[in-house]
Amino acid sequence: MTGTTKISARCECGAFALHINEAPVVQLVCHCSDCRAFSGMPYTELAFFQPDSCSVHGKTNSTVMKGGTGFDKTHYSCASCQTPLYVRVAALNGASAVIANRLSPFKFEPQAHIWTSEKADSVTIPTGITQSTGRPPKEISDIMVSRFWGKK
Ligand SMILES: [Zn+2]
Ligand SMILES: [Zn+2]
Repeated sequence: MTGTTKISARCECGAFALHINEAPVVQLVCHCSDCRAFSGMPYTELAFFQPDSCSVHGKTNSTVMKGGTGFDKTHYSCASCQTPLYVRVAALNGASAVIANRLSPFKFEPQAHIWTSEKADSVTIPTGITQSTGRPPKEISDIMVSRFWGKK
Protein backbone atom coordinates (compact mmCIF):
# COMPACT_ATOMS: atom_id res chain seq x y z
CA MET A 1 0.00 0.00 0.00
CA THR A 2 1.13 3.52 -0.70
CA GLY A 3 -0.16 6.79 0.66
CA THR A 4 -1.30 7.73 4.10
CA THR A 5 -4.25 6.43 6.05
CA LYS A 6 -7.34 8.55 5.59
CA ILE A 7 -9.95 6.31 7.19
CA SER A 8 -9.74 3.36 9.56
CA ALA A 9 -12.15 0.58 10.42
CA ARG A 10 -11.77 -0.81 13.91
CA CYS A 11 -13.41 -3.59 15.90
CA GLU A 12 -14.79 -3.29 19.42
CA CYS A 13 -11.75 -4.73 21.19
CA GLY A 14 -9.15 -2.82 19.18
CA ALA A 15 -7.20 -5.90 18.05
CA PHE A 16 -8.13 -5.32 14.41
CA ALA A 17 -7.78 -2.29 12.18
CA LEU A 18 -8.25 -1.76 8.49
CA HIS A 19 -6.40 1.32 7.24
CA ILE A 20 -7.71 2.88 4.05
CA ASN A 21 -5.98 5.55 2.01
CA GLU A 22 -8.68 6.44 -0.51
CA ALA A 23 -12.28 7.61 -0.47
CA PRO A 24 -14.89 4.93 -1.13
CA VAL A 25 -15.96 4.20 -4.70
CA VAL A 26 -19.62 3.84 -3.76
CA GLN A 27 -21.73 3.73 -0.63
CA LEU A 28 -24.82 1.56 -0.43
CA VAL A 29 -27.37 0.35 2.08
CA CYS A 30 -27.87 -3.38 1.57
CA HIS A 31 -31.02 -5.15 2.73
CA CYS A 32 -30.00 -8.67 1.66
CA SER A 33 -30.27 -11.53 4.12
CA ASP A 34 -26.56 -12.42 3.79
CA CYS A 35 -25.52 -8.96 4.96
CA ARG A 36 -28.12 -9.06 7.71
CA ALA A 37 -26.80 -12.39 8.98
CA PHE A 38 -23.25 -11.04 8.91
CA SER A 39 -23.75 -7.59 10.40
CA GLY A 40 -26.50 -8.50 12.85
CA MET A 41 -28.28 -5.29 11.86
CA PRO A 42 -31.67 -5.01 10.10
CA TYR A 43 -29.87 -3.44 7.14
CA THR A 44 -26.20 -2.92 6.43
CA GLU A 45 -24.48 0.31 5.52
CA LEU A 46 -21.52 -0.50 3.28
CA ALA A 47 -18.72 1.61 1.86
CA PHE A 48 -16.91 -0.04 -1.07
CA PHE A 49 -13.16 0.53 -1.34
CA GLN A 50 -10.50 -0.47 -3.83
CA PRO A 51 -8.76 -3.55 -2.40
CA ASP A 52 -5.30 -2.05 -2.85
CA SER A 53 -6.30 1.03 -0.83
CA CYS A 54 -6.87 -1.14 2.25
CA SER A 55 -4.29 -2.65 4.58
CA VAL A 56 -5.26 -5.18 7.21
CA HIS A 57 -3.78 -5.14 10.73
CA GLY A 58 -4.81 -7.93 13.05
CA LYS A 59 -6.39 -11.34 12.85
CA THR A 60 -9.78 -12.03 11.37
CA ASN A 61 -12.17 -14.93 11.10
CA SER A 62 -13.64 -15.36 7.66
CA THR A 63 -16.77 -17.00 6.32
CA VAL A 64 -17.28 -17.56 2.62
CA MET A 65 -20.70 -17.32 1.01
CA LYS A 66 -21.59 -17.74 -2.62
CA GLY A 67 -23.04 -14.60 -4.11
CA GLY A 68 -25.91 -14.80 -6.58
CA THR A 69 -23.39 -14.49 -9.39
CA GLY A 70 -21.50 -17.59 -8.21
CA PHE A 71 -18.61 -15.45 -7.01
CA ASP A 72 -17.48 -15.73 -3.39
CA LYS A 73 -18.33 -13.13 -0.80
CA THR A 74 -15.90 -13.50 2.09
CA HIS A 75 -17.10 -12.02 5.37
CA TYR A 76 -14.41 -10.94 7.85
CA SER A 77 -14.85 -10.45 11.60
CA CYS A 78 -12.31 -9.73 14.32
CA ALA A 79 -10.81 -13.02 15.55
CA SER A 80 -10.92 -11.76 19.15
CA CYS A 81 -14.21 -9.92 19.61
CA GLN A 82 -16.13 -11.17 16.52
CA THR A 83 -17.10 -7.65 15.45
CA PRO A 84 -18.22 -7.90 11.81
CA LEU A 85 -15.96 -5.68 9.73
CA TYR A 86 -15.94 -6.09 5.99
CA VAL A 87 -16.79 -8.25 3.01
CA ARG A 88 -14.43 -9.06 0.17
CA VAL A 89 -16.51 -9.19 -2.99
CA ALA A 90 -14.98 -11.41 -5.67
CA ALA A 91 -17.60 -10.28 -8.19
CA LEU A 92 -16.11 -6.79 -7.83
CA ASN A 93 -12.50 -7.87 -8.32
CA GLY A 94 -11.93 -8.20 -4.58
CA ALA A 95 -13.44 -4.89 -3.53
CA SER A 96 -13.70 -4.39 0.22
CA ALA A 97 -17.22 -3.54 1.36
CA VAL A 98 -16.68 -2.17 4.87
CA ILE A 99 -19.47 -1.85 7.42
CA ALA A 100 -19.75 1.91 7.54
CA ASN A 101 -20.36 2.32 11.25
CA ARG A 102 -16.92 0.83 11.95
CA LEU A 103 -15.24 3.58 9.89
CA SER A 104 -13.72 6.70 11.37
CA PRO A 105 -13.49 9.50 10.45
CA PHE A 106 -16.32 8.90 8.06
CA LYS A 107 -19.68 10.31 7.05
CA PHE A 108 -21.91 7.70 5.45
CA GLU A 109 -23.69 9.10 2.39
CA PRO A 110 -25.51 6.26 0.63
CA GLN A 111 -26.21 6.48 -3.09
CA ALA A 112 -28.86 3.75 -3.09
CA HIS A 113 -30.67 1.09 -1.10
CA ILE A 114 -30.23 -2.34 -2.71
CA TRP A 115 -31.86 -5.78 -2.36
CA THR A 116 -35.01 -4.17 -0.98
CA SER A 117 -36.84 -7.40 -1.98
CA GLU A 118 -35.18 -8.97 1.09
CA LYS A 119 -35.80 -6.00 3.38
CA ALA A 120 -36.68 -6.65 7.02
CA ASP A 121 -40.34 -5.79 7.75
CA SER A 122 -39.34 -3.37 10.49
CA VAL A 123 -37.27 -1.19 8.15
CA THR A 124 -38.65 1.84 6.34
CA ILE A 125 -36.54 3.20 3.51
CA PRO A 126 -36.36 7.00 3.41
CA THR A 127 -38.05 8.64 0.46
CA GLY A 128 -36.04 10.41 -2.20
CA ILE A 129 -33.20 7.88 -2.42
CA THR A 130 -32.54 5.48 -5.28
CA GLN A 131 -33.80 1.96 -4.58
CA SER A 132 -33.31 -1.39 -6.24
CA THR A 133 -35.07 -4.65 -5.47
CA GLY A 134 -31.84 -6.49 -6.31
CA ARG A 135 -28.38 -5.50 -7.50
CA PRO A 136 -27.34 -1.85 -7.63
CA PRO A 137 -29.11 0.11 -10.39
CA LYS A 138 -27.27 0.39 -13.71
CA GLU A 139 -25.84 3.87 -13.19
CA ILE A 140 -24.18 2.69 -9.96
CA SER A 141 -23.17 -0.80 -11.08
CA ASP A 142 -21.54 0.76 -14.17
CA ILE A 143 -19.36 2.87 -11.87
CA MET A 144 -18.52 -0.17 -9.73
CA VAL A 145 -17.60 -2.35 -12.69
CA SER A 146 -15.46 0.30 -14.36
CA ARG A 147 -13.71 1.35 -11.17
CA PHE A 148 -13.11 -2.11 -9.71
CA TRP A 149 -12.39 -3.98 -12.95
CA GLY A 150 -11.09 -1.24 -15.20
CA LYS A 151 -8.72 0.76 -13.05
CA LYS A 152 -5.66 -1.47 -12.92
ZN1 LIG B 1 -11.73 -7.13 18.07
ZN1 LIG C 1 -26.09 -7.49 1.14
